Amino acid sequence: MTERILVVGAGVIGAAIAFQLAQGRADVTLVDAATPASGASGRSFGWINASFSLDVHHFGLRVAAMAAHHRLGTDLGDAPTTWPGTLAWDEAGEAQDRTFARLTEAGYPVRRLSRSEFRRMEPAIATPPEIALHYPTEGVTDLASLTHRLIAGAGRHGARILLGLPVTGILTHGGRVSGLQTAEGPLPADRVVLAAGTGTLELLAPLGLGLPMLHRPAIILKTQPLPPLLSHILVTPAMEIRQEADGRLLAPTSPNHQADDSTAFSAPPEDLADQSIRHIAELLPQAAPRWQEALRAFRPVPGDGLPVMGEAVEGLYLAVMHSGATLAALAGELAAKEILDGKDEPLLAPYRPGRFG
Ligand SMILES: Cc1cc2nc3c(=O)[nH]c(=O)nc-3n(C[C@H](O)[C@H](O)[C@H](O)COP(=O)(O)OP(=O)(O)OC[C@H]3O[C@@H](n4cnc5c(N)ncnc54)[C@H](O)[C@@H]3O)c2cc1C
Repeated sequence: MTERILVVGAGVIGAAIAFQLAQGRADVTLVDAATPASGASGRSFGWINASFSLDVHHFGLRVAAMAAHHRLGTDLGDAPTTWPGTLAWDEAGEAQDRTFARLTEAGYPVRRLSRSEFRRMEPAIATPPEIALHYPTEGVTDLASLTHRLIAGAGRHGARILLGLPVTGILTHGGRVSGLQTAEGPLPADRVVLAAGTGTLELLAPLGLGLPMLHRPAIILKTQPLPPLLSHILVTPAMEIRQEADGRLLAPTSPNHQADDSTAFSAPPEDLADQSIRHIAELLPQAAPRWQEALRAFRPVPGDGLPVMGEAVEGLYLAVMHSGATLAALAGELAAKEILDGKDEPLLAPYRPGRFG
């Protein structure tokens, strides 16, 4: 008999898992308290990369995740993902040399750009760096739109979606998960996938399961639409920035946002937005940028910064992670394989929920 699987969370992770499970002919229902991409997935910078990683396994996971995005692009046909490459000069001198050596040794595509090469590639930047690193294979995705397309794709394979329905608990029977308690009553299932981002811990706690989550507030800023100015993802000492297809510049207000470990906003959101606009104006003086949207968000970061994927108790699969833009396509593939085939995927071995005890 086909297993009934409930996936909690219509962010990009839940959507990617539902898409792959539905393609594998599982009976899937996606449940969300709000609407698709209303959490972190609707407020993401969307950078797909492996130039940032926390350790050697994490690097390998991110490289595999980039390849999975290419497969997903082919599967979906209309993925909002492009591969413009990154120019980074957040580091200089020895720190930059170390990054270059580490990535070169790992076989990651990276080259050093001189100022004149940089100027040819990004002529609008007022003060080009002396040396920048170029990661030509990196990409960006419009994460909200990817989430919607994954859900539509899952729907074409028979998945259903229940929106505006808060999950209030996880039901168990005989030591195994048997469904969900919702604001409107129980939903029975053979298996539950929890991809509820920052809402995960609250649902796990009544089962006696702990998942340490870090408190990581962030703001993503969008300017008014501007004429074409940038062709790459830029990582400057002050910020990460890119230009969307509609001309708007997009930037998290904290520098080095992937490793940002602030637990609180350092200033009111509008002050942080003004500060970022000043950085953008220095970078692109001809742009006359104004901010139009400053979106407050909370990044779902497990306690050690690394993803959490795998079975927590019988019938309950967890998928919680930061860098979900990079990892979503792979997370969907691997979770669906583990759930449908019952076999452990070696790539996920370091990321099991059991590591927190
Ligand atoms: C500012 C910012 C910049 C980022 N930049 C990048 C980047 O450049 N590259 C990168 O790889 N990653 C980036 N990320 C991280 C990435 O966006 C996240 O890892 C990813 O969006 C997480 O997706 P998710 O589906 O796990 O969570 P979410 O998108 O938060 O989705 C969780 C969903 O679960 C639902 N939910 C929660 N609790 C319940 C409940 N009890 N009942 C029902 N539904 C519930 C919520 O409503 C929500 O829709 C960034 C994040 C932020 C905030």
